[in-house]
Amino acid sequence: MATPPPKLNPAQKALLKMGLRRDIDLALHLPLRYEDETRISRLADAREGDTVQIEATVTHSEVGLQSRRQLLVTVDDGSDTCTLRFFSFYPSHQKTLAVGARLRVRGEVKGGFLGKQMLHPVFKLASGDLPTALTPVYPSTAGLPQAYLRRAVLGGLKRANLSETLPPGCPNYNPGYLSQTGLQRNYYLHEALSFLHNPAPDVSLAALEDRSHPAWQRLKAEELLAQQLSQLQAKRARDLLQAPPLAAREDGLLDGLRAALPFALTAAQQRVGAEIAADLALPIPMNRLLQGDVGSGKTVVAALAACTAMDAGWQCALMAPTEILADQHFRKLVAWLEPLLAPLGKCVAWLTGSQKTKQRREMLEKIASGEAALVVGTHAVIQEKVVFKNLALALIDEQHRFGVAQRLALRSKMVDGVLEPHLLMMTATPIPRTLAMSYYADLDVSTIDELPPGRTPIVTKVINDARREEVIERIRAQIAQGRQIYWVCPLIEESEALDLRNATETHAALSEALPGVLIGLLHSRMPVAEKKAVMALFTEGSMGLLVSTTVIEVGVDVPNASLMVIEHAERFGLSQLHQLRGRVGRGAAASACVLLYSTGDAPRLGQIARARLQAMAETNDGFEIARRDLEIRGPGEFLGARQSGAPLLRFADLETDGELLEWARALAPQMLDRYPHLAEQHVLRWLGGKAEYLKA
Ligand code: ADP
Ligand code: MG
Repeated sequence: MATPPPKLNPAQKALLKMGLRRDIDLALHLPLRYEDETRISRLADAREGDTVQIEATVTHSEVGLQSRRQLLVTVDDGSDTCTLRFFSFYPSHQKTLAVGARLRVRGEVKGGFLGKQMLHPVFKLASGDLPTALTPVYPSTAGLPQAYLRRAVLGGLKRANLSETLPPGCPNYNPGYLSQTGLQRNYYLHEALSFLHNPAPDVSLAALEDRSHPAWQRLKAEELLAQQLSQLQAKRARDLLQAPPLAAREDGLLDGLRAALPFALTAAQQRVGAEIAADLALPIPMNRLLQGDVGSGKTVVAALAACTAMDAGWQCALMAPTEILADQHFRKLVAWLEPLLAPLGKCVAWLTGSQKTKQRREMLEKIASGEAALVVGTHAVIQEKVVFKNLALALIDEQHRFGVAQRLALRSKMVDGVLEPHLLMMTATPIPRTLAMSYYADLDVSTIDELPPGRTPIVTKVINDARREEVIERIRAQIAQGRQIYWVCPLIEESEALDLRNATETHAALSEALPGVLIGLLHSRMPVAEKKAVMALFTEGSMGLLVSTTVIEVGVDVPNASLMVIEHAERFGLSQLHQLRGRVGRGAAASACVLLYSTGDAPRLGQIARARLQAMAETNDGFEIARRDLEIRGPGEFLGARQSGAPLLRFADLETDGELLEWARALAPQMLDRYPHLAEQHVLRWLGGKAEYLKA
């Protein structure tokens, strides 16, 4: 029988929840910032915005009932008075804060009409000596008091094995710093950690908070090295796996499709096609990301890769994140490939969650027998019940919408468990170089860097919602010319708090303003069949205007649509705006994107929203957009699903630590070759069990 799990108190549970299991995890849990509790300030010297510690006596205490119930406590330190304001408090707080009590209070000083104030300061009875060194403040979570966490971290630091893992004689990660500062050498790991966790009495706040300090540099270098090592390990492990080699064949589907296409491939499409073909011809699984701006023509490149696999007698699967997108791929691929597959007794199968049982059973049979050479669908493609006869190539569209687990599931679909399928992921959200070098170091990347010819650039206008009428006028003119329009709203139901215009209401208002125009409504809560019917009317051109929530965000391709209106554009993320804009400008007609913004009650837009809209107006280039998006959002959010479960960089900042990243990239392969033991130890120390996730 298994031993029952030990009883944990809430703080211990919180530690585990934060991933702080091992001594080394605790030792590497570094302070967010430091507090200076070594000094008592005089209230009279404190300026607005200063965070200070004072010692003062309570002169007045009352529970006020102004707009909200609150505890107001006046303290006096002899130089000045200050009001402490608490919106949440317990009877025990009131007791400590009773008139006459001598307190040590820490908080940010706010000026104000009624004199100095502190909102929810930290306080305790004044007693005992002041600490002699700065106090570290650790990233924490609910139910985990700083004092407990601090003790746990110091305990972990004492017990953890901090032996050096950087190989002897390895290149210096920080030559610039050493020469600038005249320091002789970099910090050892144990020195760096004890410096950051246990600041000596003479260390200043500035030295600790400046992450260029040698102690920080050491940790950032370590962290980046762990990331590079684990990705390289994953890549090398994958290179040991076997995949069916798929050599391109003449006179097959590949040639057939090329001949049937109504356009010539761009040079970029040909180039990435060749890169993919070279991977497929090898007996090791491809792990490639195909990135190209919206509308750059990734689908046809994927279809050609699928032809190569089918020509070699294997099956292919294409997975898309939404049913609308999967449906669109299906139609396009059926139109291209069915005429070529039918004479061979093969077909394209279709799998989604909303499918009728009978149809689904038929599809599953065709997939199992191999009659379905190509399977297109949503997440349904990776469900357990789906058994392929011989899957050799998995294509994932809009890969950033899928998580690691889903990608792993698709790869496990290989029949006999010996051969792995080749994997090609597609994205219209290109990965900036620094991210590609760090988080995606294990991935090969192909880039389509040109659009098909004949596209006119999209003109983007940022317009205040007050000028809505003019926009509607413009829609009328466009529709009169036979063009089609998207109108995107952010939410489907009125939310009082956000006061967003609801798609249904907008649909009604536009229908009234544009009599005689067929106007559709599309939102995520509609039944799938209805969604598809609406989408079909829009695709065939009989619907002039489509009001929609962001369900049309990814991949939808209707070349006759030439105007995209995005309402409350200030609420969208940059990549999302770019994706939405990419729904137009797909045909030869001049296209435009109108970003309607509303400032609500505020006189102006917030700074971040303004930066986003400005970026949209300034550039159509998906790479530039991605770069600015990363700048605005930071890597955590930018990476999204890829990182669920996988560790983000905690200390290194790709913006400023490019040199350390280069160092880690250069060292990782040498270290794996020459010091595999140290490499192993290093990865285990930093990533523990999390490294598994990188293998996806
Ligand atoms: P995305 O890269 O955004 O997935 P799609 O694959 O949907 O782009 O392609 C966008 C449109 O461009 C489609 O209508 C497609 O048929 C068309 N297209 C793709 N390649 C070319 C080309 N070389 N010349 C002209 N049109 C093309
Ligand atoms: Mg696409």
